[in-house]
Amino acid sequence: MNQKDLWFQACEKIPGGVNSPVRAFGGVGGQPVFMDRSEGAYLYDIQGKAYIDLVLSFGPIILGHRPPQVIHALQKQLEKGLSYGATTSAEVNLAKQILKMIPNMDMIRLVNSGTEATMSAVRLARGFTKKNKILKFKGCYHGHGDSFLIQAGSGALTHGVPSSLGVTPGVAKDTLVAPYNHLEAVESIFESHPDEIAAVIVEPVAGNMGVVLPKPGFLEGLRALTKKHASLLIFDEVMTGFRVAKGGAAELYQVQPDLFTLGKIIGGGLPLAAYAGTREIMEMVSPLGGVYQAGTLSGNPMATAAGLSQLEHLEQLNPWDDLQEKTQYLAQSLKNAAQKEGVSVQVNQVASMFTVFFSKNAVTDTDSALAANASEYAQFFHLMLERGVYLPPSQYEAAFLSTAHTSSVIESIIDKAQESFKIMAKNQ
Ligand SMILES: *Cc1c(COP(=O)(O)O)cnc(C)c1O
Repeated sequence: MNQKDLWFQACEKIPGGVNSPVRAFGGVGGQPVFMDRSEGAYLYDIQGKAYIDLVLSFGPIILGHRPPQVIHALQKQLEKGLSYGATTSAEVNLAKQILKMIPNMDMIRLVNSGTEATMSAVRLARGFTKKNKILKFKGCYHGHGDSFLIQAGSGALTHGVPSSLGVTPGVAKDTLVAPYNHLEAVESIFESHPDEIAAVIVEPVAGNMGVVLPKPGFLEGLRALTKKHASLLIFDEVMTGFRVAKGGAAELYQVQPDLFTLGKIIGGGLPLAAYAGTREIMEMVSPLGGVYQAGTLSGNPMATAAGLSQLEHLEQLNPWDDLQEKTQYLAQSLKNAAQKEGVSVQVNQVASMFTVFFSKNAVTDTDSALAANASEYAQFFHLMLERGVYLPPSQYEAAFLSTAHTSSVIESIIDKAQESFKIMAKNQ
């Protein structure tokens, strides 16, 4: 079947044709590409056309597609079974491996998706502190749990407004929203809600409004304020965990949260996520404590085999400095290429995460991200897609590199970007 017929059938049977909205290309227009297989730095569509993949399944694929170690671990597990609903040694080994890599956490619980991890972490924070409200940041994404689907409208700093239908006002009122990188706003929310805030949840590097770095002092400030007000600090490291450093953003920025949420890379491409914390907090989780959380497929043997193998190999390879260098070089080269053609861009980058914003001004929060020219991004996206580079289909999603993106792959991305910027400049 061809791309067009498949898309027609997809739209008939699946809402919007996709099982996760951004895949529908709504942010860039046009019809999504049906992919068939993957290898290393490449995705191949159903016609066999190759694309340099900069989406990497939105984060999990840090060793490139189909790393031999992970495939081997999965093949071995395939011989033994798919799911037992009983404890396995791989769960213990994976727990030990994760706790060895992330800083200062004692215990961990495995779940199936980042959404579950953040929902559970917030329930745990409420159970532990006996407080009801949470504080999140505008433009940060923590999965699709009701409490997180709150967008601050202007003046909605104190009481959240639902940004999805189906989120009740009752839930919305317990989510407070502050602008990212604005510590004074957080401070004033704490002052107007003394003893009410169970936790502050934050993406320590924002990746879901495009990549936005924390300003110096922002994370440290959140740590100090949560301590002062006896609130927990939750680092949602579903994207940044094992991505920006071995120990995630907590290690990179040397700020210690009370709870971590993890996902994406820890599953090695299979559905697996987790939340971790100190013993005192994690002992409140059922069956030890009164905070209930469970899962039929949690700790699934295939997922734990893939995750454990990916993390062990990552730790051994220690690729973070190299990834940072390569990505910084790519970011600088993209900036130079755009400048040469007279196209204004900001390339935000940390470790192997980056976003090309079409803007004259620095992008430091949601408002400056929204001020970037999304239609120029859409043009760039399609020019790159034609040339065989698969960028995130939205201005507001992070792009990634993996260890499979060699220097020659990176040079090829730069060449194709140069061509694309040139065409954009001509069309202006
Ligand atoms: C992807 C992501 C989530 C949600 O994870 P899912 O597995 O898609 O539910 C939560 N938080 C952050 C920071 C993410 O990047």
